Amino acid sequence: MKNKQKAFAVLTELKQLYPSPECGLHWQGEPYRLLIMAILSAQCTDARVNLVSETLFKRFPTPKDMADAELSDIEKEIHSVGLYRSKARSLKECCSRLVEVYGGIVPSEMEELLTLRGVGRKVANLLRGDIFGLGGIVADTHCIRIAGRLGLAGGKDPLETERSLEKLIPKEEQSGFCHRIVHFGREICIARSPKCENCVLSGLCDYKKQNKG
Ligand code: SF4
Repeated sequence: MKNKQKAFAVLTELKQLYPSPECGLHWQGEPYRLLIMAILSAQCTDARVNLVSETLFKRFPTPKDMADAELSDIEKEIHSVGLYRSKARSLKECCSRLVEVYGGIVPSEMEELLTLRGVGRKVANLLRGDIFGLGGIVADTHCIRIAGRLGLAGGKDPLETERSLEKLIPKEEQSGFCHRIVHFGREICIARSPKCENCVLSGLCDYKKQNKG
């Protein structure tokens, strides 16, 4: 089966499994919130980020509030999140630039987003897809691992995964595909012990063919 056909079949199965994929971050339709929460979510669970965000956004409800805040006050608010010191600096500097250069409005272009501290391609694609409907492959750990196991990408490099999948998944489906892959990676195609016997993608999967016969 060609990779494009396989990707279509994978997408079809995932849509049946997860009819309405949602971002695990509760950003309430506010781009500023998603930007901040996405930066906080590196090496941290969505649940933790959602919890911390409840008080964080009460204290700093706008990009200007975050930009003007004392670093130590941001650190206090997010101290239960991993890497909180560097993330606090990212939030402050990111918001300073957001206010100074973009008038407090989250920009939509990849090149613009990448100038914000704490924003790499993974976060930028999440923002472009979920806020602006521009699609984009969010090559996080689940996406890289599962695309690799299925044989749709190499399975190691984020940029290679992004480039491979963006050719295979239609733009308007990319954000939903990535959210579904995250759910699938947490529940079925788990990093250490994938549940291949109960997997709807087993007939499409190179890993299953090679490792389980
Ligand atoms: S068959 Fe196994 S390795 Fe392949 S996608 Fe399913 S759970 Fe993952």
